[in-house]
Amino acid sequence: MSLDSPSLGEEWQQDKSFAPSLAFSQQANIQDVDIYAKAEADSEGYWADWANQLEWSKPWDTILKWNPPHAKWFLGGQLNVSVNCLDRQLAQRGDNRAIVWEGEPGDQRTITFNELAHEVRKFSNVLKSLGIQKGDRVTLYMPMVPEAAVAMLACTRIGAVHSVVFGGFSADSLKERTIDCGSKLIITADGFWRRGKIVPLKHTTDEAVADCPTVTNVVVLKRIGEAAGISMNEGRDLWWHDLMETASDDFPAEPMDSEDPLFILYTSGSTGKPKGILHSTGGYLTGVYATTKWIFDIKDSDLYWCTADIGWVTGHSYVVYGPLANGATVFMYEGSPDWGVSDGGIGKVSHAQNTDRARFWEMIERHKITILYTAPTLIRTCMKWGAELPASRDLSSLRLLGSVGEPINPEAWLWYNEHIGKGNCPIVDTWWQTETGAIMISPLPGITSTRPASATRPFPGIVADVVDEKGVSVPDGKKGILVIRKPWPSMLRTLWGNDERYKQVYWSKFPGLYFPGDGALRDKDGNFWLLGRVDDIMLVAGHNISTMEIESALVEHPAVAEAAVIGREHDVKGQAPVAFVIIREGHGLDSSNKESIAALSAELKEFVGKKLGPICRPEDVIITADLPKTRSGKIMRRLLRDIAEGRLLGDTTTLADPAIVASLKDKYTSDES
Ligand code: ATP
Ligand code: MG
Repeated sequence: MSLDSPSLGEEWQQDKSFAPSLAFSQQANIQDVDIYAKAEADSEGYWADWANQLEWSKPWDTILKWNPPHAKWFLGGQLNVSVNCLDRQLAQRGDNRAIVWEGEPGDQRTITFNELAHEVRKFSNVLKSLGIQKGDRVTLYMPMVPEAAVAMLACTRIGAVHSVVFGGFSADSLKERTIDCGSKLIITADGFWRRGKIVPLKHTTDEAVADCPTVTNVVVLKRIGEAAGISMNEGRDLWWHDLMETASDDFPAEPMDSEDPLFILYTSGSTGKPKGILHSTGGYLTGVYATTKWIFDIKDSDLYWCTADIGWVTGHSYVVYGPLANGATVFMYEGSPDWGVSDGGIGKVSHAQNTDRARFWEMIERHKITILYTAPTLIRTCMKWGAELPASRDLSSLRLLGSVGEPINPEAWLWYNEHIGKGNCPIVDTWWQTETGAIMISPLPGITSTRPASATRPFPGIVADVVDEKGVSVPDGKKGILVIRKPWPSMLRTLWGNDERYKQVYWSKFPGLYFPGDGALRDKDGNFWLLGRVDDIMLVAGHNISTMEIESALVEHPAVAEAAVIGREHDVKGQAPVAFVIIREGHGLDSSNKESIAALSAELKEFVGKKLGPICRPEDVIITADLPKTRSGKIMRRLLRDIAEGRLLGDTTTLADPAIVASLKDKYTSDES
């Protein structure tokens, strides 16, 4: 990431800026442009105002105690998360929909706040009957079904610390995460539907639990039924519905200290072994409540859809806690974006090809979804599938779009704006991490003029900066390292069981400054541009170059759907850029024809060289059908580096499809020779 690279993002900065429409601004939850200055003038008072919008059973004495690198927020205060998400909503919104759900085969459910509260109180009694107490850890290994939210909220009601493990992870990953936090209980399901097949959660749980000595019980939700073919281990395994049948509906919430642990969540593992992030109660809820209200502009009239799985932090903060604390209605979907409603009837195993790449757009039309929050990987996949698919559906209910998870390339941003938002929806590109708990850098949709691929400004009350290797602020327009200068309520408190690693990873690079590990540039208007991981920055012939810039240039080429760039060791230059590229469908490349592949590679090299300067010209362009991604859909560049430099592959446990790496490795060596 360059203090001097030829492109310097200037071209992006001069790109069009998109001001919110007057109609949007006038109805927005936040319209006051002075809010940034106000929050800066008294940040503790500002955060206390937010916390005051929640319900506390005991008020706090101290807003913030900052003993770097440990922060305590709203000390002395007590509250309960489930009370804020449920009980508090009942008087006004009891009959409003809390969750609208669609299963992959097409089955649908709607759950009101009254019904959700009822289920949560009952499941809290179930947890209690299984001996779970305040402070105990509970692992959730669940599908995207409303019961996942029920289980999370019941944990918060009783004061248990949940650790949600993504349902696509293997037995080993589940085992590792369960052992690390010492869970007593695993809550799972017999399985769920994905691309017409059963994902066998219970089988995988059985395999994992065999080696987890702390686990005494497994609660199993029946999602599939017979076809899942599971067996119950007597004494250990219990059916969700059996337990719920007799559970009482009365469960007074446990008052929690503001700083009591709320949940543990392991990071995606893009850069290495996942870290067990610990969040606490009062500060976390304050952060997700505030950001949901202002960034998603959420209202009772919305049907809000965040496509993230509850296994990721986005699913915690923006499927469950942020929206429900705001009393909003969330949409949840169980399955894959390219699978159609089953015509064999709900619950039938479908082995037939039932590909339907318009599924997301159909659901937006069917349910009249108003806000869509998704990831660049999904947007780029939809670009690859073609704009005719969203065009074939009525998306006019949408009024706001969001993006999270990776830098979004300008090209993908513009596609999202044009083909999904139809030019009518502000786009909030939200930068944040598992560690930050809530969104940190994002437009406020009624106020901010957005720029394609800039996350724009730190949320009011967040103090971000861009510094050099010594920790000194760099001038605007220069690339550097992103840091956060002040503690914020929803920040992680530590790494579970490893405070030393917490200090080392986040606070040792620049003492007193939080180090997220991402590169950034701030332009003259104060907009932040996220440039990818600091580890992915290349040093080419003395120039720091961000992978993000070259990738974005490649994606501008009409043939390219997705690109991943890495720096490969080079005798003379230090590092040389190498690009892995996925071609858009319908481009008509004959992938069996070596000559046309070579011609396209050469063309892409030239394209980048012209656009960004010769120094950014990739030395190799490898055309591939797929890229190694984490289960959350992020490109794992370190594995591509391993391949390009002929190393043994590092930790691959969080990889979505290990076969991709093997085939890329073969391809890489054969292309080179
Ligand atoms: P690990 O820390 O285990 O390597 P991870 O960093 O992928 O995994 P997450 O907490 O899920 O785990 O992801 C946070 C990271 O995702 C950020 O540090 C950043 O690199 C990237 N990111 C998220 N949102 C954005 C965004 N809007 N723009 C750019 N990058 C983003
Ligand atoms: Mg990370």
